[in-house]
Amino acid sequence: MKPLERLLLENRAWAQEKAAHDPEFFHKLRQPRNPDVFWIGCSDSRVHADQVTQTEPGEIFVHRNIANQVAIMDMNFLAALEYAVDFLKVKHIIVCGHYGCGSIKAAMEKPHPDHLFMNKWLKYIKDIYRLHRETINGENSDEGRHNRLVELNVTEQVHNLAQTSVIQRAWRAGNRPDLRGWVYGLNDGIIKEIASLEADSPLDSIYEQSSEDVGAKDV
Ligand SMILES: [Zn+2]
Repeated sequence: MKPLERLLLENRAWAQEKAAHDPEFFHKLRQPRNPDVFWIGCSDSRVHADQVTQTEPGEIFVHRNIANQVAIMDMNFLAALEYAVDFLKVKHIIVCGHYGCGSIKAAMEKPHPDHLFMNKWLKYIKDIYRLHRETINGENSDEGRHNRLVELNVTEQVHNLAQTSVIQRAWRAGNRPDLRGWVYGLNDGIIKEIASLEADSPLDSIYEQSSEDVGAKDV
């Protein structure tokens, strides 16, 4: 059987199973839901937010990209963030990285000559590596160094989130959402929290936007 045929067949089986288990399942899905959680994860095919947290459709609003970045020049990310915070009014935002992330490993190496866009996308991860090189190189194995950069990247992305006007405006207006940095372990399936910022946490003043700027919705 061809791979895509299998996907469609499995989809039919899944739909039948859901309906058999709960005849109201698809009726309930059609009702609007306001998830409390916005998940920013890696695009890696092994890390699905709902699967690793055993959540149902409607519980988590998701944005994924390579190496779970808070990319403030990325219109796709900004639109998702704005929708999650301003419309869905999520209470929590999770940046979830994962150990064994191939993109993080790639960022620690020379740019690949054939990967023009990947090289650009990983630029900010390279910056984190450069700024924390001493700490990272203090680890005594390649795996340890990769893992350290995975964690530092998650922490950095949580701080990047706090620096956006979308978050600063929401903190001033409604004392939410809190920001969490998680890392998922491919070897044991366990998530651990490595960073957190409660709503209205103090910011370094160089990132603090004035009320006027925040009102103007600049990023
Ligand atoms: Zn990854």
